[in-house]
Amino acid sequence: MSQPTLLVTGGAGFIGSAVVRQAVAEGKWRVVNIDKLTYAANLASLDPVAGANNYLFEQADICDRAAMARIFAAYKPTAIMHLAAESHVDRSIDGPAAFIETNIVGTYSLLDAALTHWRGLDEAGKRAFRFHHVSTDEVFGSLGKEGLFTETSRYQPNSPYSASKASADHLVRAWHETYGLPVVMSNCSNNYGPYQFPEKLIPLMILKAMRGEKLPIYGKGDNVRDWLYVEDHATALRLVLERGAVGESYNIGGKCERTNLEVVDALCALLDARLPESTHRPHNGLKSFVADRPGHDKRYAIDCTKIERELGWTPAETFESGLARTVDWYLANEGWWRPVLEGTYQGQRLGQASGA
Ligand code: NAD
Repeated sequence: MSQPTLLVTGGAGFIGSAVVRQAVAEGKWRVVNIDKLTYAANLASLDPVAGANNYLFEQADICDRAAMARIFAAYKPTAIMHLAAESHVDRSIDGPAAFIETNIVGTYSLLDAALTHWRGLDEAGKRAFRFHHVSTDEVFGSLGKEGLFTETSRYQPNSPYSASKASADHLVRAWHETYGLPVVMSNCSNNYGPYQFPEKLIPLMILKAMRGEKLPIYGKGDNVRDWLYVEDHATALRLVLERGAVGESYNIGGKCERTNLEVVDALCALLDARLPESTHRPHNGLKSFVADRPGHDKRYAIDCTKIERELGWTPAETFESGLARTVDWYLANEGWWRPVLEGTYQGQRLGQASGA
């Protein structure tokens, strides 16, 4: 029997590449990665699967409706996992247009292509099909000192990024309620791990500390995030896709609340223990507090009881083990991050990509 096809949008990004690496290695799916290759994409993150015969790559913009219609018609997918997005909050504050375009219009374009494809399937194909929309806990806004976000928390996005993701969540839900498209949704807390673009807190701090540069911390560093190791998120996403109930959403989190300052201190301690005295020890002394981000949400924390109870998911990594693995990965993989810092990473592997 031929393998079912899974389209993954944004598969050259941080979380998407983790999903692609896992799904290709597992071998159950033929995986087609659709990615525009924005600044956040890095095909080097897909080197482990580049030669696999169940992996294909299509460079395309999800906002391009003709391209999405062509891709659905060509690959006849059983499922789509939608991760492509503009994902950096600071960039959304400086330039929201790309966030509106990709995160809202792009999601609409995919829903449109998916619905046309789904309507053309036979009854068994219709029942099997899934549109999995991957979202963030930031759509729920900010928590006070107490409480956790659940699947029924009120939507209250505060940044252009989270507002665009919230809009996409609503569109996906509406396509299920109005047209019957079989969707599943997930909202996850902050991810960290290997292959993360160094504009995000953890890789930014690791690479700056390794080079003895100042470590810029917003405000007093007391904003709280719930951290999840990216491979644990990818495992959860595959479970939601394959076993999640149609029309349902699942919150995913690491039960690892830390202030930004605690994160930076933990990273400094890990680097102190790994790098020789001569390279700027102690790294803690590099901390520098900078003006806070406008509209900076105070605290995010996830109640992930539903995915634990209904799908049997639990994260494999603790914050301590995941952070140590992450630091070790960046120390061992200068070949991945050096071209990113030098701006020479884009497009270099296009010739190796397997198109169809
Ligand atoms: P990322 O920025 O690392 O990767 C995004 C990918 O999408 C890139 O490869 C980029 O080239 C691609 N892309 C962007 N615009 C596109 C377009 N118009 N057409 C096709 N491809 C396009 O993002 P990430 O951190 O991997 O996040 C993936 C998804 O998970 C996003 O939807 C994000 O909102 C969500 N999410 C992220 C986190 C996190 O902590 N990073 C947490 C929860 C949810």
